[in-house]
Amino acid sequence: KPFEVHVQAEPLARFEREMDAARWSTLQAQAVKARALMAGRAFWNISSTAKGGGVAEIVPRLVAYARGASVDAHWLVLTGTPEFFHITKRLHHALHGSRGDGSPLGAAEHERYDEVLRDNAEELLVLVQPGDVVLLHDPQTCGLAPALAAVGAHVVWRCHIGRDTPNAEVTRAWEFLAPGLAAARLTIFTRAAYVPPQCADRALVIQPSIDIFAVKNQPMTPEVARAILANTGLLRGTPGSPEPIFTRADGVTARVSRCADIMQLGTEPSPDVPLVVQISRWDPLKDPAGVLSAFALLLRQSPNLRAELVLAGPAVTSVADDPDAAATLQDVLALWRQQSHFVRQRVHLACLPMTDLEENAAIVNALQRHAAIVAQKSLQEGFGLTITEAMWKARPVVASAVGGLQDQVVHGENGLLVRDPGDRAEFAGAVRSLLEAPERAALLGRRAHEHVRAHFTVTRHLTDFVRLIELLKA
Ligand code: UDP
Repeated sequence: KPFEVHVQAEPLARFEREMDAARWSTLQAQAVKARALMAGRAFWNISSTAKGGGVAEIVPRLVAYARGASVDAHWLVLTGTPEFFHITKRLHHALHGSRGDGSPLGAAEHERYDEVLRDNAEELLVLVQPGDVVLLHDPQTCGLAPALAAVGAHVVWRCHIGRDTPNAEVTRAWEFLAPGLAAARLTIFTRAAYVPPQCADRALVIQPSIDIFAVKNQPMTPEVARAILANTGLLRGTPGSPEPIFTRADGVTARVSRCADIMQLGTEPSPDVPLVVQISRWDPLKDPAGVLSAFALLLRQSPNLRAELVLAGPAVTSVADDPDAAATLQDVLALWRQQSHFVRQRVHLACLPMTDLEENAAIVNALQRHAAIVAQKSLQEGFGLTITEAMWKARPVVASAVGGLQDQVVHGENGLLVRDPGDRAEFAGAVRSLLEAPERAALLGRRAHEHVRAHFTVTRHLTDFVRLIELLKA
């Protein structure tokens, strides 16, 4: 049964002090337009997990501000069998051009995929009314489109992933998704390169965004960030630290408590050691193993370099639509065990607790703010919100030149891009160059912050959605 995640309305008014008068009045006018276009109709977002990953990050923020603007917006999460999520994870890999575990995507898999979505659709059809807008996210939900379109809903499918140069795997995924794609009135992609030929006549390119007021991005002093990390076991504690506190979405102050399910290997880094940090789901396409070996290479090349690596990701059982996470983490752990004592002392793997998502966000916030460098060495990447978040925090970033990472990082201007994501030496060299030139790194970070403000905030994203509902009305 699909379930609704209740999202509290957030006032758009808080953006007034973030923008100049002209932009603020444009935003207000768009809120009025959205309200008028959506009068008497609901806006449903349907995705496949309530926590973990970029979609679960973006959707609640957009829904919150839409509700704040009096649009009847909702977030529903479908449910599925382990078999279903195995197939959709395979599709996820295929859309990135990867074979994943190589399992088939044939008629039998299609039947199982359809079956789960039929069950979900039955429940959804009680909620969704003719004229409502339904925004389906990613391949897990694409097959819902025919049933929802048949009752007169305006169905839009949004794909958050893709590959710059489509290959046979990508084509296979599009074939699998063809019935869903055909039923969607409009489709949304993160990059123009991701648009398949069959959607070219009804595709919009809309980039993701971050909410600067989300718990994950709220201001935090370096001292509080260190205190939070010390409390969660990610950093050595120092006497006289402030309280490890953050502000919840409802405005209440909360304390981050030491969380037992953080897995800490080696000794906790000292607070004055520069940290290279990658925070990602445990997915081979995020290449955590590649980050580890590239960092080990860096340490071998420059044994006197003062730096340690933190690879962090969500607790492995917490992300409903990511069944491979445990196996990926096991691979990284095995690789960690093979390293020399010297490297193991400087590489830390952490599973962040996901039971309280706001506490998780506070820990991620602290880790990103404390990082000397934030890395995203993905082999493929739809967009890469982890980099957006780090750039907002004025961190120098090192990212692979793939997918949406290239749309965010301007090499040498607001961060560094590694041309060949598989090239560990290139990655190691980029990290070293920033560690050895902290002033340049700080300058890149300052420009990164401005770049995110100009292009990747939730207000820009909301404006894109007004354009979307205008198009649906036309
Ligand atoms: N994230 C998190 N906790 C974790 C790991 C990741 O909150 O332990 C968040 C991260 O901060 C970001 C999102 O998950 O907001 C990942 O989005 P991204 O676009 O980078 O990748 P995706 O997971 O969607 O492929």
